[in-house]
Amino acid sequence: MSLLARARYHAGYSVFGRALLRAERLRSERQLARPDFWRSEHLAPPLNVAPRLKELISRHYLKGRFVEGGQKVAWVTSGAPIEFLSALDYFLIYPENHGAVCGIRRTAEDLCGVAEDAGWSRDTCSYARTDFGAMLSGRTPVGKLPRPDLLVCCTNICQTVLLWYRVLANHFKVPLVVIDTPFIYTKAGSHDTAFVERQLEDAIGQAEAIAGRDLDPKRLREVTVHARDAVKLWSEVMARGAHKPAPLTAFDQFIHMAPIVEMRGQAFTVAYYQAMLDELDERIAKGIGALKNERRRLVWDNLPVWHRLSWLSKQLAGRGVALVASTYTNAWGELAELIDPDDPIASAAACYMHPILNLGTGRKLETIKKLVLGFEADGVILHSDRSCKPYSIGQMDQRERLGREIGAPALLLEADHNDPRAFSEEQATARLEAFLEMIDA
Ligand code: SF4
Repeated sequence: MSLLARARYHAGYSVFGRALLRAERLRSERQLARPDFWRSEHLAPPLNVAPRLKELISRHYLKGRFVEGGQKVAWVTSGAPIEFLSALDYFLIYPENHGAVCGIRRTAEDLCGVAEDAGWSRDTCSYARTDFGAMLSGRTPVGKLPRPDLLVCCTNICQTVLLWYRVLANHFKVPLVVIDTPFIYTKAGSHDTAFVERQLEDAIGQAEAIAGRDLDPKRLREVTVHARDAVKLWSEVMARGAHKPAPLTAFDQFIHMAPIVEMRGQAFTVAYYQAMLDELDERIAKGIGALKNERRRLVWDNLPVWHRLSWLSKQLAGRGVALVASTYTNAWGELAELIDPDDPIASAAACYMHPILNLGTGRKLETIKKLVLGFEADGVILHSDRSCKPYSIGQMDQRERLGREIGAPALLLEADHNDPRAFSEEQATARLEAFLEMIDA
C-alpha cells in the first residue's frame, strides 16, 4: 500500500468513518429504545439489531471507497464461492447487492436508463442494467465502488451473469474467472463435483497470482468455519418465522440477508446473526409478532421487489398478512450441511452446485410446498419477475400444482426486482385484494 493510500485509508475509513458510523448506530439504538418512537398501527417496531445491520452495510461500502491500493478487490456474483477470496484478503463487491441498494434507494431506474441508452435491452436483468449504468456513469448511492482487480463469475444462478461479467472484464480490462456449474436435473454425479473442484483449484491459482500470496489452508479453514456457522444461524433465524405470530417476516429477511450474502466468512457476521436469533427468541418468549395482528400467513417466491419493499410490506400488514417465509432467503440457509471446513474445496464444489436456481423447477416446487406446510401458510405469492427469467420460469405450472397437490392457493404478481417501470401499484393492489378475498371466502 502506498503511503498516500495508507494515510487516506487510515483517516477516511479506520478513524473518522468508523467512528461516525458507530455514533450513528448508537443514536439509532437510543431512538429505537424510546417508547414513543414507533407509531405503526400494524407493524411491531424494527428489530433492535437493525441499527447494527445499517452500520455493517455502511462500513462495507465506506471501506470500498478507500480500499483501492490497499487490498485487492474482486467483484463476484451472488452465488460465487468466495471463501478462498476472503482467505486471500480480497475485498469483495457484489454488483447484485449493490443493485438492490440502488433499487431500495430508487436510483435503479435512472441507472437502467443509462444502460438502455448505451444499447442494452429492457429485457436484460435489471441488476445487470443497474450495474452497467453505474459502471458507465460512475453514479452510485454508496459514494464510489472500487475498481476490480479480478472478476469471479459463477453460473450457478443463471447464464446472464456470464455475459454481464464479460462486459465488466472488457470495460475494466481485468481478468475474469468463470466457474461453470453443471445444471443439476436430479442428482449431482461425482464427475460434476470433480469438474467444479478442478475449476476452483484453477481459480485459486489465478487469485493467488493477482494477490501476490499463497492461500493459507489454516485461514481458508477459519473462513469456511465462519461461513458455515453464519449460514446455520441464518437458517435458524428464518425457521423462527414458523412461530405464531411470526416474530419476523420475509421483508425483515430481505433486509437482514445482506451480511449472509456479502459478508460470509467473517466472524462479525456470525456474531450479528447470533444477536438477531437471540432477539427473535426474546420476541417469541414475549409473544411479540412482526405484525400486531397476524391474520393470514403467506410464502413468497422469487426475488424481492426492492423498489416497493416498504409499500408491499405495509399493504400486506394492513390486511393482517404476514409473509412468513420465502424461497429467495431460504436459498441462503438450506446448504449449511454441505459446507465442510475440513474439506473446504471439495465441499465448496458440492455446495455451490446446489443453489435453487441450479436445480430443476421440480425442486423449486418441492421447496415451496415444504415452506407452505412447515410454516402453516395459507397461500403463496409467486412474484413473476419480468427480467429474471430463470427464477420465474415454470410459475404458471407451479401455481396450478400447489393448488392441486397441497390445496395452497397462489397468486402470480407481476413486477420486476429492480425496474419500477414494470410495476403498477393499482394493479398489484387489485390483484392482492382479490386473492385475499378468495382465501378468506
Ligand atoms: S437474471 Fe435473475 S438470477 Fe440472473 S443475475 Fe439477474 S436476478 Fe440474478
